[in-house]
Amino acid sequence: MILTNYQSSLTHPVFQHVSEIIEKDGREAYVVGGFVRDLLLNRSSKDIDLVVVGSGIQLAEELAARLGKECKLAVYKNFGTASLHFRDWEIELVGARKESYQRHSRKPIVEDGTLQEDQNRRDFTINALALDLRKASYGELIDPFGGLNDLAQKIIRTPLEPGITFSDDPLRMIRAIRFATQLGFRIEENTFAAIKEHAERLSIISQERISDELHKIMMSPRPSVGWKLFEESALLPQFFPEVQALKGVDFVDGRGHKDNFYHTLEVLDRLAVNSDDLWLRWSALLHDIAKPPTKKYYPNQGWTFHGHEFLGAKMVPRIFKRLRLPLNEKMKFVQKMVLLHLRPIILSEDFVTDSAVRRLLFDAGDDIDSLMTLAEADITSKNESKKQRYLNNFKLVRKKLKEIEEKDAVRNFQPPVSGELIMETFQIQPSREVGQIKDAIKEAILEGEIRNDFDEAYAYMLILGDKLGLKPVKLK
Ligand code: ATP
Repeated sequence: MILTNYQSSLTHPVFQHVSEIIEKDGREAYVVGGFVRDLLLNRSSKDIDLVVVGSGIQLAEELAARLGKECKLAVYKNFGTASLHFRDWEIELVGARKESYQRHSRKPIVEDGTLQEDQNRRDFTINALALDLRKASYGELIDPFGGLNDLAQKIIRTPLEPGITFSDDPLRMIRAIRFATQLGFRIEENTFAAIKEHAERLSIISQERISDELHKIMMSPRPSVGWKLFEESALLPQFFPEVQALKGVDFVDGRGHKDNFYHTLEVLDRLAVNSDDLWLRWSALLHDIAKPPTKKYYPNQGWTFHGHEFLGAKMVPRIFKRLRLPLNEKMKFVQKMVLLHLRPIILSEDFVTDSAVRRLLFDAGDDIDSLMTLAEADITSKNESKKQRYLNNFKLVRKKLKEIEEKDAVRNFQPPVSGELIMETFQIQPSREVGQIKDAIKEAILEGEIRNDFDEAYAYMLILGDKLGLKPVKLK
């Protein structure tokens, strides 16, 4: 079913070369998948997927020969695929294939197939569009499932019966939600009903594949859309019980707390407006993750979540490990954000003192701006005057942070007097006293009693030594 022609959009030399190569012996080749979808949506894409009826590897080799030195070819014989890197383009070539799945295996039986069979195995109608590269029909759209219409109506729908599509590869349920979030589309009813029905099948999917999709949801303009759909579709508890546990409100004596799931999502969306740092977005999702396990009701105080920032920071490594997220400095950053997320708010509730600002700067170090962005997004009070007061205080905190940073340089605090110098001055061995003196100097700097400067710290060290009964033996 050919609806229209996109010849004028296929000007990239790769398409023209392929067209000329296949013309010689009457082969068929098509641009498929995400590139076509994004072209029709006016989104730019640097990934091109090509399907050829026959050998993808052979076509890749012929194409590489034509593109010359600028192109790097990688062949994956076992998968029957090849990829080409050309300028800043990634081109994947594969032979058209037919896939059949058995109930208890994730691995399909793959056979050579026709274009139509290749389109059948794709996840959504909007991803099953193909553009013909044969000379006579160059640029013609092949749209067997009404993908063009679904693009126009902003609908995510499977090409075949959704139960079959999702049961064959349950990752597609996550992908449906990813595309809905990323593109601002709605999931068609039958498709969504089938996700609910097959949610438990997600357990056969590797966590790495799931997390790749989660990152794309997190980087979408409104990541909350995806998390709400995960919750509504019953997928969420399959891979993220801690986030599921945020949902719901308990009542005691007629008093309820706020629903931490919706609060978290509001924070995430508010943060996404101001930051496209993936890991700061993850921090927003996790900032209150320990509220359910720390929740307590006291008749005189109401609901409390004491220590949720500490427990939350402790939960991060376990969550990262299970989700196969990196266990490196990215994780440490998220832990730090979760641990410190209340600090700017607590600070701005009070009179904003220099020493409190200095301490915050000391603890957050170079991540202070990220922390402030997160804490600001966390102000979601429905009480407008309270919200305004917080936001105004935040302005003051930011101003003070700047002033103090310029004056005291405590962001990347290095003790101005080293342990070696203390030992040398008083001729003492490594001991508790050395630690005490170092700590007291740091405290005095953070409290603003002395400046972050060698001479002041040195003089203060002599006073501290004296108090501890230590006499300087060697003076600077
Ligand atoms: P993006 O570029 O945003 O990641 P995409 O759909 O272009 O999205 P891929 O994930 O590389 O990127 O997929 C390329 C194409 O392969 C898709 O458009 C779709 O046709 C097909 N596809 C990918 N994954 C699946 C899957 N799990 N099941 C069926 N078809 C799939």
